[in-house]
This record gives sequence, C-alpha cells and structure tokens, in this order.
Amino acid sequence: MSEKIKLTAKDFKSDQEVRWCAGCGDHAVLNVIQRILPDLGVEKENIAFVSGIGCSSRFPYYMDTYGIHGIHGRAAAIASGVKVANRNLSVWEITGDGDSMAIGGNHFIHLVRRNIDINVVLLNNQIYGLTKGQYSPTSKYGQITKTSPFGTIENPFCPGQLTIGSQGKFFARSVDNNMKHMTIVLKEAAAHRGTSIVEVLQNCVIYNDKAHGVITAKATRDDFQIHLVHGEKMIFGKEKNKGLIYDGIDLKVVTIGENGVTEDDIFVHDAHEENPTIHNRLVKMAPPELPVALGVIRAIVAPTYSDNIINQIEAVKENSKIKCMDDLMNSGNTWEVK
Ligand code: SF4
Repeated sequence: MSEKIKLTAKDFKSDQEVRWCAGCGDHAVLNVIQRILPDLGVEKENIAFVSGIGCSSRFPYYMDTYGIHGIHGRAAAIASGVKVANRNLSVWEITGDGDSMAIGGNHFIHLVRRNIDINVVLLNNQIYGLTKGQYSPTSKYGQITKTSPFGTIENPFCPGQLTIGSQGKFFARSVDNNMKHMTIVLKEAAAHRGTSIVEVLQNCVIYNDKAHGVITAKATRDDFQIHLVHGEKMIFGKEKNKGLIYDGIDLKVVTIGENGVTEDDIFVHDAHEENPTIHNRLVKMAPPELPVALGVIRAIVAPTYSDNIINQIEAVKENSKIKCMDDLMNSGNTWEVK
C-alpha cells in the first residue's frame, strides 16, 4: 500500500513570479495560506482558488492548485458554481474590497445568504490598487484619492455588517502584519461548514499606505485591537486592563480597577450566539472610541447550500412516482406510432 506523502507549503507554491509590490500586505496572506493548506488534510487536486479582478485576485496564479482568475466582481458567482458542481472540493475565493463590495456586491450578499461552503478571504485595503488609486466602497468618508480629489462623500461599507445583514454565519477579521493571528483565523474559517468571510486589513503601500496604521502600528495596536476568542473575556490593552461592557445599547470601553469595575463585569465573547445584535456591534467598532475587533466574531452552525440540495434531491426522489427510465418514458401522454 502506498504511503500518503505529507505536503508542505512549498508544494502549494506555483512557478509564477509573484508580482505584487514589495511590502504589499498580499504577500503575508499568500504565505499563510500556503502554510496552512498542508494541515487541512485536503488532497491538492481537491482544492480550487477562485478570484475576480484586482491586485489580490492574482492569487490563483501563485497557488499550485486548481484555480480560476475570473472577471471583475464575479468571483463569488464562479466559486458558487464550482462548489455546487462538486461539493467535495475545498473552494477558496480571494477577493478585494473593490471586487467584492462594488461590482461584486450583489454576488457577495447572495453567496452569504445561501451559505455555500466557500472560504472567502477579503483583502481590504480601502482602495482600488490595480487601477492606480481610485476610492473603493470601503474607503473612509472624506478620503482624498484620484477619483475624490476633494474627499469622498460616500459612507463606506463595513464588510462585517454586510455579512451579518446578509444572514452570514461566519465572519472573522485579521491583520496582514500578524501572521500568527491570521493562521489561527484562516484555519477556523477552513474548518467551518458554510460561507466563511475573513476580512484581512491589508496595507497597500503604494496607493493607501497606513490606511489601517492606527490599528496595526506597534505603538498603538494594543489599544486599538481586541483579539476575540469564543468563551473568553473581551479584554485588551497593553496592560490587559481594558474591557468591553454594554452601555445602553452600545459597547463601551472600561478600565478594570477603576470606578469599581472588576474583571467579572467584562463580557465573555460568544461567537455562537445566533442573535446577531452583539456581533453587529463588534464588527463596526473602530478607533478612537473603541478597538477594532479581530478574531472569529461570528460562527454559527447551519445547513449549507449543498446540504439543502442533497436533502431536496433525496426527498423528491423518494416521493416521486418515477423510479426508473421506463417510468419516465411512460409518464404523461404517450402515443404508439404504428
Ligand atoms: Fe499591493 Fe497596492 Fe501594490 Fe496592489 S498596488 S500590489 S495592493 S501595494
């Protein structure tokens, strides 16, 4: 009997030259995904990477797996077709904020609503990088770009809110300069059955450098990142003495040891809570008042689209009078021609 060969990250690297700019956050995401794939226990021939258009959408070229570099905004539609046609495949959609939130916004919400078992990695750099710096649907209000020389006058989408608003079952967030954290989050996303959305706050060094700077910089990150873990208290800060509590209907930062606040007052993160209210609050937190929530924010077990298709086919077959080809040929009006 032949022994199964353990693959390594190298087995998932293609022979294509990686053409992202030096210092682009996409490199870190590529490295992490190539490193975690051998641990997922999926045969290489059963893995497919699908993308649309944008800098991050060059991803399938760099993977030594099956892949499709699709058309703008359509990665979700193509990936849906791939998964529904063969539910045994591990399907990954790599997309950017322009690709998935603008022209592909419609496909994004319906993928999420249908709960098709696809791992979506959304690299959010808040700009169109490939086409040289136009504002995207996640660019900050007032941001000056090539297409908004006086500042954008549009409120940005929050991918987490859009996911939850589309009945999303899994949403997680990480940052491109913390590969250890990204590894944990992407492994959890891969293990989740159903659509998993992982937003990676990614730096575009050329057209939107330091867009996430206050969240990712060494000097400020402890105060503006909270790493959520299911079942653990929502505590953060350099001294690990800050925490989240509810203040009316909103979340508020408190300091443990001040104003009578103890660790017991701090919320415990429940990623499995079906009611999306708290998850909705968590995904939209932002500095300076609140830290940005990282980690698996929402993870709900629910039937996937493939589960529902299989169940429906089985039910229709069982209740149908037609059991074989002869039954089919003799159903309805038949004529004998002599
Ligand atoms: Fe990365 Fe920006 Fe360069 Fe595109 S333009 S490869 S997003 S740094």
